[in-house]
Amino acid sequence: MKVAFLGLGAIGAPMARHLAPRYDLSVWNRTTSRATEFAQQTSSTAASSPADAVRDAAVAITCLPTSREVESLLDGPDGILGAFDRGATLIDCTSGDPATSRRIAARLAERGVGFVDAPVSGGVSGAMKGVLTIMCGGDEATMARARPILEAFGEKIVLCGPTGSGHAVKAVNQAMLGVHIWALAEGLVALQKAGVSTATALDVINASSGRSNTSMNLFPERVSTRAFPRTFRLALMDKDVRIAADFAREHGVPSPLLQLASELLREARRELGEEADHVETVKVLEQWAGVTLGGKP
Ligand code: NDP
Repeated sequence: MKVAFLGLGAIGAPMARHLAPRYDLSVWNRTTSRATEFAQQTSSTAASSPADAVRDAAVAITCLPTSREVESLLDGPDGILGAFDRGATLIDCTSGDPATSRRIAARLAERGVGFVDAPVSGGVSGAMKGVLTIMCGGDEATMARARPILEAFGEKIVLCGPTGSGHAVKAVNQAMLGVHIWALAEGLVALQKAGVSTATALDVINASSGRSNTSMNLFPERVSTRAFPRTFRLALMDKDVRIAADFAREHGVPSPLLQLASELLREARRELGEEADHVETVKVLEQWAGVTLGGKP
């Protein structure tokens, strides 16, 4: 069975790696050299265009920065819309936005092609281990076709509701991540100024009710050590939290914290740039306060 994978970025590449031994895998990436290298390292084929990748494929997977890039693949001479066979399925693993996904799904449906939005959580390490959480939106019949493919890199795979629901759940999850990073950084900066080290504060918080994945894993591994590996760009988290804030507003839900989180992350992105990792957000607060976390108080 032919499967196509479009978008071999930081998380797309390790996801696609799990498909190579199981399917006749065709990969496409905007920067061609990445696809060629990937194909050389795995038993897959580098396609010359998005259309070339999806032609004759039963399933195609996209993993691009935003829904805008996914939508832009549909049209034009190399567009995937006209290249799909009837009965094929597009699984979009981008952390996208629900409204654009509904539009994409409607256009595909006119051609007899199914669509599932299926953003992932678990980071690059989860992708490498094949244990991602995958939150999906779509109908049950299309989901039944998508699930065996998603099982190659996912551990917990949940159909959350109709098209766009996976993206909505992902955006809310990301808003929680953004709030946790920001709130913990504010608290630790204040504690360090008051003479409590980051190590002591994290030791206590991680045995108390305020703990989170951010306090238990991200800060000890990345902030205390000053390692700040670049695995998930702040620019992408900013995009995600904006989707959550817009989603709440569109549904008429009072959402002061989501709106503020979105504003703060936009400012952090402006200060730190497009390549900064999401955890580097703490550097903005450190700079504002004149404190470096992880050092001696
Ligand atoms: P990267 O920035 O590492 O990679 C982005 C990919 O999209 C690259 O393959 C890039 O191609 C391609 N791309 C960018 N712009 C375009 C365009 N205009 N047309 C076609 N292709 C384009 O992102 P990630 O892999 O980190 O993230 C991908 C998605 O997964 C995002 O939605 C992100 O929010 C989500 N995600 C990421 C996680 C992570 O830990 N990294 C965790 C969970 C979700 P090129 O090589 O040419 O630049």
